[in-house]
Amino acid sequence: HIPVICVDGPTASGKGTLASQVAHALGYHYLDSGALYRIAAFAAIRAGLSLDAAHEHTIAKMAETLPVRFSGGHVFLAELDVTDAIRTEEAGMNASKVSALPSVRTALVALQHGFRRLPGLVADGRDMGTVIFPDAPLKVYLTASAAHRAERRHKQLISKGISTTIDSLRQDLEARDARDMNRATAPLKPAGDALLLDNSHQSVEESVAQVLRWWES
Ligand code: C5P
Repeated sequence: HIPVICVDGPTASGKGTLASQVAHALGYHYLDSGALYRIAAFAAIRAGLSLDAAHEHTIAKMAETLPVRFSGGHVFLAELDVTDAIRTEEAGMNASKVSALPSVRTALVALQHGFRRLPGLVADGRDMGTVIFPDAPLKVYLTASAAHRAERRHKQLISKGISTTIDSLRQDLEARDARDMNRATAPLKPAGDALLLDNSHQSVEESVAQVLRWWES
């Protein structure tokens, strides 16, 4: 059976950094499932659709055959490089909107399962351990206080020359978490057998080392 490590948790908890570094350390594949929802939202907006139940069926149809490709640190929608376009705060909020539509979630299941290839996979998202890979032998639920998450996101954006305030970032991430936790389908919550990791006071190296220890034990 092909091994999978799941890393779920709220917005800006550092899941992507942790999961991709653990994947690198083990020589495993890496799935950034949030990128799929971001791309689905991006494609829907480009097609002129509003991101609500009125267009659920059409967005789900598009998501089912989403021409997405990850290559050399870049993300492509067909031939279009969407790496930067899907990383904005707005793109995250849009992803959260389409991800609340149940048939869009269903449409992305097969695509996500396709990432489970030898020698193994590290997958990050909101429902990796609860819905997509429920049989995963290691599930990590990563958290950090909202204050720490907003501060980290702020530093990231500032380093890219994007100016925002910590307060507005914190409001955005709390709104997104609330939507993700309260939706009817696959709400954000730890799997029953998930190990909790709070990285508020941990360096990336410490979190990576912790997950690798769990994996080896
Ligand atoms: O992780 P990221 O911030 O890129 O995810 C963007 C949005 O996509 C999340 O706020 C969430 O609403 C949605 N998502 C999801 N299930 C996943 C991954 C992301 O619903 N497995």
